[in-house]
Amino acid sequence: MTNDLSSLCPICGEGHLQPRIGRSPVEYKGQTSEVEFHSSVCDACESEQLDAAQLRANKRAMVAFKKQVDGLLSGAEVRALREKLGLSQADAAKVFGGGPVAFSKYESDDVAQSEAMDKLLRLAAEIPAAFEVLTHRVDDGSVATSMEWEEVRGWSVEISSESSTKRPQLRVVSSSTSVGEPHWSNAA
Ligand SMILES: [Zn+2]
Repeated sequence: MTNDLSSLCPICGEGHLQPRIGRSPVEYKGQTSEVEFHSSVCDACESEQLDAAQLRANKRAMVAFKKQVDGLLSGAEVRALREKLGLSQADAAKVFGGGPVAFSKYESDDVAQSEAMDKLLRLAAEIPAAFEVLTHRVDDGSVATSMEWEEVRGWSVEISSESSTKRPQLRVVSSSTSVGEPHWSNAA
């Protein structure tokens, strides 16, 4: 409705704001295009005004255009990918990082995901084993997955029978991943 009080023009106080969607030329990294431009025009004084929702819509259109130029997944593509993986937005943030509202922002084009996040999402979608590793890290809440621990243990057994020159390197790995497994470097 355009004749209620909320659409009364705050500039002339007589006309009413009529929302409209036009096109606005944009340019990013040498590429030009047109995106939707949301605004309202007073039917009396003809002044053009933007409310918060229109400003947000225009910003999203620009972010979407930048994502396209940068070769990043669109907001809709991020949503489809997340749903394909069976994750809520909150769970997706736990698995991939970015903060609790990250996926809401990616999917509504409020912000562009980083190139690193974009690659991680594509990797998880294409390689089930990669996605499994990421979800496992969330499940047990630790830095190292159980799969990694098996590798570390196997490696230590193998190396302990060889020369002692590799032991310092072994200790570095241990201190960076282990809190509660102090005995493994002695495994034989
Ligand atoms: Zn007016």
